[in-house]
Amino acid sequence: MSWNGTVRCSYCGEKGHNRRGCPSLKERLEQILAMPEDTRNYNERCLVSEFERKKRSNVDRKCSYCGGLGHNRRTCEVLAKHRDYVQKQQVAFRTAFLKHVREIGLNIGAIVTHDKENARHPAFVTDIRWDNIDITSAHQSINCFVSARPLVAITNQRAGSWFTVRAPNHWPTGRKWTGHDHRWQEQTYGLKIVSAVDKAVEPPSGWLTSEEEVKDFFRDREAWMWPSDDSVIDASYYSCEFWNLEEKEKDLAKIA
Ligand SMILES: [Zn+2]
Ligand SMILES: [Zn+2]
Repeated sequence: MSWNGTVRCSYCGEKGHNRRGCPSLKERLEQILAMPEDTRNYNERCLVSEFERKKRSNVDRKCSYCGGLGHNRRTCEVLAKHRDYVQKQQVAFRTAFLKHVREIGLNIGAIVTHDKENARHPAFVTDIRWDNIDITSAHQSINCFVSARPLVAITNQRAGSWFTVRAPNHWPTGRKWTGHDHRWQEQTYGLKIVSAVDKAVEPPSGWLTSEEEVKDFFRDREAWMWPSDDSVIDASYYSCEFWNLEEKEKDLAKIA
């Protein structure tokens, strides 16, 4: 690519593609390959061997996800399968999550306090960070996603506190989900509604089925991190077996 950002093809000289993707070179190669070998001239033989060298190096290259040969991360079927699995859990999780926050009446304008005994300083909800609601982190704790301003400092733009929700017990969960040691954030920042908002909270459009977070999650992962049996699921830091998909399959079908 040249410094001004336009690609120019070193074979045909046209802009907008490079030698690797050149249509005239591809056509030329097909013509040469159709000729009997002993009738090809020097230049034609060079083109053919360049083509075969590239083909070989593509086959030899290892996939950076599964380590398999002959394909790359972009075309890896193992990665696609793993990503699909987590994406389904993401949709199931976000659906259940939305239902729950609507049930408790959380919305901008609600009054909340910490979910502890003798909680003080009720606060006014000013913002909800929907991108913090993500299945790839929720198996450990649900990130603080509610930004609020203490009522005692309601006119102070800079006064703020963060809240999250405790995962309700009825959510279909894996072993890791209910492990108490992972829930410190919810125990510290869990919220209780003091005054609910009647209007149902509305996430940004596309939030329920967005694939961005799961794609990000897999950006630097490799296939060996994927849990392969129950023992690994229990022990692995990378575990993502925290949602009973089979039970949720019907709900998912309704959304899709
Ligand atoms: Zn070209
Ligand atoms: Zn692969």
